[in-house]
Amino acid sequence: MKPETIAIHGGFECDPTTKAVAVPIYQTAAYAFDSAEHGAALFNLEVEGYRYSRISNPTSAVLEQRVTELEGGVASLCVASGQSALYFATANVTEMGTNIVSVPQLYGTTYTLFAHIFPKQGVSARFAASDRAEDIEAQINEQTRAVFCETVGNPAGNVCDLEAIAKVAHKHGLPLIVDNTVATPILVRPVDYGADVVVHSLTKFMGGHGTTLGGIIVDCGTFDWQAHGSKFSMLTTPDESYHGLVYAEHYGRAAFIGRCRSVYQRTIGSVLSPMNAFLLLQGIETLALRIDRHTENALKVAHFLRQHAGVEHVNYAGFPDSPYHEHVVKYLGGRACSLMTFEIKGGLEAGRRFYNALALFKRLVNLGDAKSLACHPASTTHRQMSSAEQLKAGVKPGSIRLSIGIEHIDDILADLDQAIRSAHMGDI
Ligand SMILES: *Cc1c(COP(=O)(O)O)cnc(C)c1O
Repeated sequence: MKPETIAIHGGFECDPTTKAVAVPIYQTAAYAFDSAEHGAALFNLEVEGYRYSRISNPTSAVLEQRVTELEGGVASLCVASGQSALYFATANVTEMGTNIVSVPQLYGTTYTLFAHIFPKQGVSARFAASDRAEDIEAQINEQTRAVFCETVGNPAGNVCDLEAIAKVAHKHGLPLIVDNTVATPILVRPVDYGADVVVHSLTKFMGGHGTTLGGIIVDCGTFDWQAHGSKFSMLTTPDESYHGLVYAEHYGRAAFIGRCRSVYQRTIGSVLSPMNAFLLLQGIETLALRIDRHTENALKVAHFLRQHAGVEHVNYAGFPDSPYHEHVVKYLGGRACSLMTFEIKGGLEAGRRFYNALALFKRLVNLGDAKSLACHPASTTHRQMSSAEQLKAGVKPGSIRLSIGIEHIDDILADLDQAIRSAHMGDI
C-alpha cells in the first residue's frame, strides 16, 4: 500500500472483541495469564502475547506496526520521547571504549547526549568536519560501532547524502542510524538508501499537532549483525541478563529492536502511555496531507523572505541554488520540508524585535506543529553550546528558525511582513 493509506490503516483492522474501528486505548498495566504454564511460556518468549505494559501494549503495538510499515522496516519500539529513542538506539550497539561517528549538524539535545553524556559512560562521539561521506569516513576507527546522521539537520537544514553515507558505514561493517524526524517517511524512507535503523521524535510532524511527546526506533532489518559479530557481541552472544538469549538468533532480522525492548525498555522503562500512542496515531492519519501543505507554504515563505528588503539571508534547501538542491531532488522528491532559518538585516537586535513582534507565529521551541512556529536557537535549543559549536551546528547568533504551519499562506506572509517592518521601525 502507498504511504497515504498505510498512515490510516497500517497495523489495525478493527478490535477483535468489540469490532471498534478506532484503535482502542488499552489503559492497562498488566495482562492475565491463562495458567502458570502460559505465564512461563510468555516470559520464555515461546508464545506471543502481552505481559506488562512496560514491555509492550496493544495500543502502542498498532503505532509500532504503522510506523514500521511507513518506514519499510521489520519492527519498531515506541518510547516516551524522541530523546529516549535516540539514547536507546545508540546505546544499543555501543559499550565502554567504543564510539559513534556523527555528522556535526544535530538537534541540540542530541548533540548534548553525544558530546557530554555518552563520554561519561565511556562512549565517545567523533564528529565529522561536515556531512560529507569522506569527512565521515575520516572519523571511523576500529572502535566505531555506528554512523549517525539526521536526514535533514535541525536547524541547519542540510540534507544528507544518505546513500553515500550508508556506503561508507557498510564498507567499515557499521550500521547507519538516521534521525528522520524532520523529513518524515512521507518525504523519504532512509531504508531505501541504506539506513539500518531509523529514529523519530513523534512529537513533531508525525503527531503533528504539538500535543504529545513520543519517540520511535525502527529496525530496518538490513544489517547482518552475525557477519560483524566481533563488534556486536551484545547481539550475537548469550545475554546473561535474559537467561542466555542470543538476540540475533532469537529475533533474526529484528534483533536490534528485540534487544532495545528486552534490555533498555525493560530495565529503564521510557514508556509511551497508551493514550499518547492513540493521539499520535490520530496525527499520523493526516500526515501526508499535512506535509503537502507544510511544504507548499514553506516554499512560498522562503521566496517571500528572500526578496524582502528587510531580510539579510534565507537558508532553505528548497531554493534551486542551494548547495543541497541535488539532495532535495534525489531524496525528498524536490520538497525541502518546512523548516528554514533566516537572518533579518540589523543583526541580533533587529532579530529580537522581529521575534517579539510576531503575532500569528508562536514563539517557542518545537517544530512540525500544524501552527506556524518561530524559535531563536542560539538562546534556546542550542544554548548549551559554545559559539563555535553553534556555528558548526549551523546556528548563527541572529538566526531565527521557522517551522511553517498549515494555516492560509496569506495570513502567514502578513504576519512575517508586519514583524519584519516593525523590527526595522518603519525604515523598510
Ligand atoms: C525534537 C527532536 C528530537 C527530540 O525529540 P523529543 O520528542 O522532543 O524528545 C530529536 N531529534 C530531532 C531532529 C528533533 O527535532
